[in-house]
Amino acid sequence: MNWWDTDATHDPARQSWVESANGHGQFPIQNLPFGVFSPPGEEPRIGVAIGDAILDLAACARLGLLPPESAEACGKQVLNALMGLDTASRVALRRIISHMLSEEGFRRALDAAVHDAAACTLHLPARVGDYTDFYVGIHHANNIGRQFRPDNPLLPNYKHVPIGYHGRASSIRPSGVPVVRPRGQRKPPEADTPLFGPTTRLDYELELGVWIGAGNALGTPIPIAEAGSHVAGFCLLNDWSARDVQAWEYQPLGPFLAKNFHSTISPWVVTPEALAPFRIGQPPRPEGDPHPLPHLWDEADQAHGALALTLEVWLTTARMREDGLSPQRLSTGPATNMYWTVGQMVAHHASNGCNLNPGDLLGTGTISAPTPDGYGSLMELSSGGKAPLALPGGETRTFLEDGDEVIFTATASAPGRVSIGFGACRASVVPAP
Ligand code: MN
Repeated sequence: MNWWDTDATHDPARQSWVESANGHGQFPIQNLPFGVFSPPGEEPRIGVAIGDAILDLAACARLGLLPPESAEACGKQVLNALMGLDTASRVALRRIISHMLSEEGFRRALDAAVHDAAACTLHLPARVGDYTDFYVGIHHANNIGRQFRPDNPLLPNYKHVPIGYHGRASSIRPSGVPVVRPRGQRKPPEADTPLFGPTTRLDYELELGVWIGAGNALGTPIPIAEAGSHVAGFCLLNDWSARDVQAWEYQPLGPFLAKNFHSTISPWVVTPEALAPFRIGQPPRPEGDPHPLPHLWDEADQAHGALALTLEVWLTTARMREDGLSPQRLSTGPATNMYWTVGQMVAHHASNGCNLNPGDLLGTGTISAPTPDGYGSLMELSSGGKAPLALPGGETRTFLEDGDEVIFTATASAPGRVSIGFGACRASVVPAP
């Protein structure tokens, strides 16, 4: 089975005896994302989101309902072992979960294994060994580059190499954990010497996260034709950024403390299988762009390597919440605004023999549309702080204030298919200590 093939688990007519799943905008039975949750007062365990509920997979394993090759992995407190399974095992597990949640006959046996999601705590789904952030959102790269180099926004390597840097795994947190405004060193343009204090240019970055599944041995690259089978899932990722710190520190080695103080992810791992109906071709490279080198080119990856996902960014401020105002949508755009595919990122990352491990996380880099209604950061939306945004209730923003909450969403949709979502990736900013 290819990672873009569909089966009965995607049947739009399939319904669940968990009634809230039917017509659910995020987690209908066609989605079945994996996560780690704890019911009130209980230990973390692996589960699957279904409507407004969570199915406890560890309990299913104890009942002897899961395939032997994945039952042990489903009993852990993190998804790394499950992510490391081969695609066939993951597909078999998905088919059984879909069967159990759709067949009325399982309702009684599974009654005690289904928990109200609203009462549960969601945890980081995996122990993230390594986190790498790419820069494949070409419109973001152009917009940011233009602020520094108006005539020459993209550096000459951009269309040959998926640009990336090694990020920090220890500060990744699930949706809902507040972000402490970081202190850092910055040098305002008018100052002679740098100063140290809370960032005044706190920003978000709208990204997709990619969970690595099966790893590769050190010294053994992943051929691009096999890159898709090394991906275990997707999430939303907010790569919080301190722009003033970034501007001062980034040369010559790149991002450091401006980026590593906190990254927020949506805690549900949406599998490649769930996204199979939403695979689309990678948009063709513009006329005149270089053809990638052979190790970064695969026809099947080009034909199926992009995702029909709509991404949105929403903001609420403390005052908007006090005044009962709804969150304001700051942008929306498609995930096709990536110059490189996920397969190309994975193949490039391992092309020198670097070993990837189950549970490693890749960020795509900020995904922006060509027009302001789809810009994926405030740095772009406010033109580097020069053009404040108007918010409901009369407030304005160039960068984030304490009390602001940023919310990302992603929805996959395709004709004749049941849409699925990623769940929320949200966090509030709290003052520097
Ligand atoms: Mn980033």
